[in-house]
Amino acid sequence: MLVAGEWTEARSGGMFEVTNPANGDVIQEVPDGGREEAARAIDAAYEAFPAWAAATAYDRSAILYRAWQLMIERKDHLARTMTEEQGKPLRAATTEVQYAADFLLWFAEEAKRVYGETIPSARPDQRFIVMHQPVGVVAAVTPWNYPVSMITRKVGPALAAGCTVVLKPAEATPLCAIETFKILEEAGVPKGVINLVTAKDPAPVGEEFVTNPKVAKLTFTGSTAVGKMLAGKAAANMKRVSCELGGHAPFMVFDDANPVHAAKGAQLVKFLNTGQACISPNRMYVSEKLVDDFVGTLEERVSKMRAGSGFEEGVTIGPLVNEAAVAKVETQVNEAAAQGAEIVCGGSRLTDGDLGKGHFFAPTVLNGITPDMRIYREETFGPVAPVIPFSDEREALALANDTHYGLAAYVYTRDVARAMRMFEGLNFGIIGINDINPASAAAPFGGMKDSGLGREGSREGIVEYLETKVGGFSI
Ligand code: NAD
Repeated sequence: MLVAGEWTEARSGGMFEVTNPANGDVIQEVPDGGREEAARAIDAAYEAFPAWAAATAYDRSAILYRAWQLMIERKDHLARTMTEEQGKPLRAATTEVQYAADFLLWFAEEAKRVYGETIPSARPDQRFIVMHQPVGVVAAVTPWNYPVSMITRKVGPALAAGCTVVLKPAEATPLCAIETFKILEEAGVPKGVINLVTAKDPAPVGEEFVTNPKVAKLTFTGSTAVGKMLAGKAAANMKRVSCELGGHAPFMVFDDANPVHAAKGAQLVKFLNTGQACISPNRMYVSEKLVDDFVGTLEERVSKMRAGSGFEEGVTIGPLVNEAAVAKVETQVNEAAAQGAEIVCGGSRLTDGDLGKGHFFAPTVLNGITPDMRIYREETFGPVAPVIPFSDEREALALANDTHYGLAAYVYTRDVARAMRMFEGLNFGIIGINDINPASAAAPFGGMKDSGLGREGSREGIVEYLETKVGGFSI
């Protein structure tokens, strides 16, 4: 753990194991922090805040820029750490490190663009000036599925704005967090400005984050259930909150689209990170006219995907994070099949040979999904593509919007007017139109409804870490 600029153990001396989800091997042990460590880290961040807030935007920018350079230099090392600890194929891990570094560069630039404004007054003797200041100590909680980029997407803008940070990474991926914090430290972030508390049980640390009066803001990425619980407690203590939560993305293929092109896109985005992405499609609405071609292409491509250790050449499907994740996917697939869905390919755990030591589920395509099935409503977070044939545009839009989530949606159509109707009509924060990667450090990322509060990345990302102050000057 990094507290007040020192790498420390837990006061109790407790440690917990980090395992490789592809084979169950223990990789390393890390300190098991609790409420006490969280409080010490918050104290350190609170003490470090005035000096960091007073540093010039240029100084803060220069440190973030160095961190970006270091992250690019260590891309291979970070990617290997990620593949070992989280399981994603090495190529995907390398892409994630690049995405993570992009946030450091983007916010190194945005640090210098925190503008204020002047506002004309109705009184001749008065002038209004608006300025923005850092909110203070930020408590951050990050997930295991994107274990480096979810850190830089929060820490980048927080540091750029002049905030200090205490971060608790997911218990499955503390090693990626440690490596990321080493980079920030080496880049010159002063002692106490960034603090890292690793913990096997997240609840006590979370409790300290949302109740400690020295914390000004909570930023959380993870499940909707935990996000709502923490946001509720933080709001009761009047802390600023932003949350990136779960999703249940529709992927819509209209009758004017090219079904082969759409199926290629569907395969790439659905099986990214073995389906463990908040923007992963969960409901594929495909025009009845195209469904055979779409499913045929999807099946052909998906059945060729190879599962295994992310270090093996040619592997495109890594393990799921743990046994509970495999069990959840298995239940959703079995229930859908029992209710009449067709298993086009996959459909079961993978246990042959070495796969049996890890948490593997076969990449799966299901056809004939109906709204009464659990998979139609619950987030899967696994490698399953559920296909739902439809016939009418309006009906498809209503079905796509019929969810309490609102993170990402995808549309395939060659009709520009229809594309615009969907872009306007879909109640989601991120929409890919014939595009499966509508995410970038430069673009706002975040959801509506139960998918969260606030946006990360882009010009908006830094605003989440700023307070607005107005001065009325009588002259
Ligand atoms: P999770 O909510 O269980 O865990 C996320 C983080 O919250 C982890 O660090 C965990 O330790 C912590 N946590 C859990 N219980 C806590 C508590 N009581 N107090 C404090 N912290 C606590 O979710 P997960 O299973 O790790 O992640 C998967 C979920 O995250 C999915 O629902 C996914 O959609 C969502 N997610 C969203 C985004 C986004 O940007 N919207 C990105 C990635 C993941």
